[in-house]
Amino acid sequence: MKIAEVRTHLLDYRLPTPFESASMRFDRRAHVLVEIICDNGLTGWGECLGPARPNAAVVAAYRNWLIGENPLETEKIWARLYNALRDQGQRGLSVTALSGIDIALWDIKGKFFNAPISILLGGRFRDRVKAYATGSFKRDGVDRIADNAEEVARYKAEGFHAAKIKIGFGVREDLQVIRAVREAVGPEMRLMVDANHGYDALEAVRFGQAAAELDIDWFEEPVVPEQIGAYCDVRARQPIPVAGGETWHGRFAMKDPLERRAIDILQPDLAGTGGFTEARRVVDLAALHGVRVVPHVWGTVVHIAAALQFMAAMAPSPVRVDPVEPILEFDRTENPFRQAVATRPIEHRNGIVTIPEGPGLGIDIDRAALSEFRMRED
Ligand SMILES: [Mg+2]
Repeated sequence: MKIAEVRTHLLDYRLPTPFESASMRFDRRAHVLVEIICDNGLTGWGECLGPARPNAAVVAAYRNWLIGENPLETEKIWARLYNALRDQGQRGLSVTALSGIDIALWDIKGKFFNAPISILLGGRFRDRVKAYATGSFKRDGVDRIADNAEEVARYKAEGFHAAKIKIGFGVREDLQVIRAVREAVGPEMRLMVDANHGYDALEAVRFGQAAAELDIDWFEEPVVPEQIGAYCDVRARQPIPVAGGETWHGRFAMKDPLERRAIDILQPDLAGTGGFTEARRVVDLAALHGVRVVPHVWGTVVHIAAALQFMAAMAPSPVRVDPVEPILEFDRTENPFRQAVATRPIEHRNGIVTIPEGPGLGIDIDRAALSEFRMRED
């Protein structure tokens, strides 16, 4: 079996109501899927985290190193592709594009051996995971405080045990938002906050000191990802556990924050940190340093399916009778690609998501949906 073709599919959807995180405005949802086709007709699907067109361009740049290769040799291919752009790569698009390719190769491997990827990774520690709701962005034209409180109360009513709230818009208003949400959902629901690196260290410390009484599980990306020293500062000077890692691509980027204990929770992204091949190493590295892992997820059903296969195979750390279980980040914002791209969408029931058992990623792609949402050239 040899790789015969590598394609990308650019998906695009204009949002009726734009929304913002602290660092980015979303007028549209745009994502890129990677399709790898073998000479025997087997096809694998992957996804890259980050901007769709630039990722597609880097996937295309890797194409010549892929054609004619045996797709089952995932470790060998990963090492060669990483090395091909290493001198000018190391992080960013060179690794996010490689992630989409690696996920597609593992999908092929699963289909070839007729097993879900989680089995090929060593076995399933679990068949379902609790999901937490990611939403609570700043939406255009509404009162953010009331809007967030109403939104998170809805997640609670749907059965979610936890929800993550976007902050980083200003400490004062952010605190008002968190207080309103806590009041709306009561003391039991788990709440996390995500500043999307919108604060500087002083703001992050001030926020964390004031918000801790509201029982917050983690404080995600308080400061920009390059500032590992500022991360350490935030972790030392306020009581909420610090999380981060969605923009640290690969084990080399994870090494420094782990060794310096800049974080309590590491959030590698399957579609950003180098696919299954590299995410395994990242999880081992985190376990070596005694840091909890909760994967980051943001994208289409392909990304969600990849995260679920990976989470099924994540060994508890520590192994014990009733271990700490990984939880799935489940984006609740408007995104047709969560449902439309697969023939059978992955959904939650009462805040619980069942991990697919079919071969590879365990999903089938709906090609009609790919054409319906194809990005136009303009
Ligand atoms: Mg985040």
